[in-house]
Amino acid sequence: MSIKDNLKTIKDSLPSHVQLVAVSKTKPIADIEEAYAAGQRVFGENKIQEMTEKQQVLPKDIEWHMIGHIQRNKVKYMAEYVALIHGVDSLKLLREINKQAKKHNRVIPCLLQIHIAEEDTKFGFDENDLSELIASNEIKQLANIKIVGLMGMATFTDNTQQIRKEFKHLKTLFEKTKATFPDLSQLSMGMSGDYNIAIEEGSTMIRVGSSIFGSRN
Ligand SMILES: *Cc1c(COP(=O)(O)O)cnc(C)c1O
Repeated sequence: MSIKDNLKTIKDSLPSHVQLVAVSKTKPIADIEEAYAAGQRVFGENKIQEMTEKQQVLPKDIEWHMIGHIQRNKVKYMAEYVALIHGVDSLKLLREINKQAKKHNRVIPCLLQIHIAEEDTKFGFDENDLSELIASNEIKQLANIKIVGLMGMATFTDNTQQIRKEFKHLKTLFEKTKATFPDLSQLSMGMSGDYNIAIEEGSTMIRVGSSIFGSRN
């Protein structure tokens, strides 16, 4: 199947409230152009340098999402154009995004990454950090960032019950946080292997790479 066919199959299966982020990390420009020609405008990358190189040569109406772990000293390279940052996992990082966004007179939308997986290798806030952050005064004073939702990654496992349980947990946190933070509208969860479960559990945004572009080396 071609990239175009893969995209169509996935898009046809999505409820209208779910946005598809096409994860193009490690893939060449030509692959992104093929997806673009098929109508896709939202792409996700996990390295700031790679994303910026691609952004510079590709059409300017592409929305670039940063989905990976972020080094604070690299935020400046994407501050001018990034459309959504999914993996925000510390207040320090939020401060840096705010500072760089201000230089470009922008407000950058961000998702807070929540640790929901069993493995302790995955980044993100836990439930307590999240409520603390949301309640803090400082967050209200960061005028150049806007927290628009939460993001999480389930454990890498074939156990679909485990995955479902983790997505349910994230959805519960999302609803709870929304009660004090009504601006939250996006719940980014689900990848190639688990996006159907994620949608059933309330995802509004899925990040799909290999099911569109083929497997990565
Ligand atoms: C690579 C990546 C994806 C996409 O993974 P696939 O399994 O190829 O769909 C989604 N989210 C994050 C954070 C990623 O790093």
